[in-house]
Amino acid sequence: MQWLKYRRLTRLAMLLTVAGWSAIWDLNRGATRASLAFWLPLVLGLGLHLVLCYSTDETILGLRWSPVDIASQAWWRTVSFPVPLLMIATGYEAVLLGRSRGLVWIVCAALVARIGTIFLRRAEGVKFNETKAGELRNRAFAVARRMRTMIRGVYIVPSGKGHLTNAYGGSRVVAVTDNWGKYFTKPQLDYVLAHEVAHVKRRHGLKQFLLAIALYSVLTLVLFRLSTTIEKSRPLLEFLVIVAPIMALDLLSRHFEYDADREAVSFTGDPETAIRALVTLYKVSSVPIRCSNFAELFMTHPSLTHRAAAIARVGEFSAERVAEMLLGVDAPQVATSQR
Ligand SMILES: [Zn+2]
Repeated sequence: MQWLKYRRLTRLAMLLTVAGWSAIWDLNRGATRASLAFWLPLVLGLGLHLVLCYSTDETILGLRWSPVDIASQAWWRTVSFPVPLLMIATGYEAVLLGRSRGLVWIVCAALVARIGTIFLRRAEGVKFNETKAGELRNRAFAVARRMRTMIRGVYIVPSGKGHLTNAYGGSRVVAVTDNWGKYFTKPQLDYVLAHEVAHVKRRHGLKQFLLAIALYSVLTLVLFRLSTTIEKSRPLLEFLVIVAPIMALDLLSRHFEYDADREAVSFTGDPETAIRALVTLYKVSSVPIRCSNFAELFMTHPSLTHRAAAIARVGEFSAERVAEMLLGVDAPQVATSQR
């Protein structure tokens, strides 16, 4: 459990490392960021750190990952997060010097983040297979119809390689891992589907994308204007332009999770089942249920304790009952036959 708690901070550690490195680099006046000396130590260092993290996951969680599985996850994770951050740092340095090619770096950072995430999902074994018939599909369409939302398709994701028990809601589609029947009761599955349909209904994906574009565009404009006036505070500024947009996007993502939970609970009218479904999800995928408020600032999903408390408030469910339900949950299940 200690390891899993530490593991939740991986993203924060990478973010602060890149932002800190970028600020320190500024003290090294005149050295451009578009150089191997800026890029190489971080890419190698963070890549190696991820290899160690994934190897430890494999041992602690009893997964069966080959060295190639570990290397490809570490590589694509590096490409999907720290590399785009380094590109943003390089881009904003150019923008601060009044060079418009900085904008090219920022746009490319978005593309690399997107491509890296697609390949990371693939390396993790997340594959979306459309289901054309069956109970999952019927239930998903029934839930969507009753929530007055149009969905185009329902997908099944193999839970295979890792702790992937999860559900996804994207642009007019919902997806659930193939092991749902093993872990969820039917009312719990309906709640999980309603949560994903709520993401679709409220267009959370699109809103997040638009906010990211708006944030980085405004920052670019502001930095262009500031370029000549802020010599002294540049290291601090370089640190903030990397950390602040990520924090804002994570905050929005957590807000959307609460929003989808709220919508799903008012649809099912059954807070107890909702909390049970979430307990199962967090437990099966070995995610610790508690975390500090500080760590949560850098996470895309709220902790289970906060989500359950929010659901209880919406569903007029007693806090004591929630505490009872969460008692003893923080014990990870060790996978037995992964791959
Ligand atoms: Zn969600």
